[in-house]
Amino acid sequence: MKLADYPFAPTDGAEDRAAAIREHLRDAIIDRRLAPGTKLGEAEVGALFDVSRTVVRSALQMLSFEGLVRSERNRGAFVANPSPEEARQVFDARRLIEPALAGSAVERLRPLDIAEFRSLLEEESRLMGERGASVRRAEIRASGDFHLALARVAGNAVLERFMEELVARSSLVIALYGRTGASSCGHADHGSILAALEARDVRSAGELLVHHIDHIESDLDLTPAHGLDLRAALSRG
Ligand SMILES: [Zn+2]
Repeated sequence: MKLADYPFAPTDGAEDRAAAIREHLRDAIIDRRLAPGTKLGEAEVGALFDVSRTVVRSALQMLSFEGLVRSERNRGAFVANPSPEEARQVFDARRLIEPALAGSAVERLRPLDIAEFRSLLEEESRLMGERGASVRRAEIRASGDFHLALARVAGNAVLERFMEELVARSSLVIALYGRTGASSCGHADHGSILAALEARDVRSAGELLVHHIDHIESDLDLTPAHGLDLRAALSRG
């Protein structure tokens, strides 16, 4: 664990501290600096961030609501290890929600929003020209940001929160099951989705989004790894 490497700015309220720890842990989980299944001991995390176990517990609880942490009675909290079935459910949920978000986004889209989408696309392009594991992480993140921006522009706070969860869980799934080293989201796809939004073409924006999510899912290897599962099961005894 390299959490200690991340500067933690102390704030006054316990709630703020819990939220800040949640952010740090969330980033580390999505970036896979914390591997799926890693135990997140309250005492250890508390010591790393210099906060009480109560604060840690509250941060872990928030992450557990998001599906990034799994809490087990009497055993504590662990980084989630989503199953292929959960992965499919995450993408099914996105296929239902994102076309609806596109519909609302088209009605509310301002020049400011278009500029934001464009700068996200530029960031993705920039990262695509580079190599390395940290670039791959940044790329997964940047590609999620496009979808979060869509949710923000759509203007429904409930759906926006739900999308934050879905995008976070997608990033974890992509990091776990991603087959290729290529971007999780095709950059060209984002460009054409934005063009459809700008043209106020709700129907094709929705279709492009569904196609895009299909594409992300098809890049995952969701077939169970038999040998590995068996060994893991046996060694656990
Ligand atoms: Zn995408």
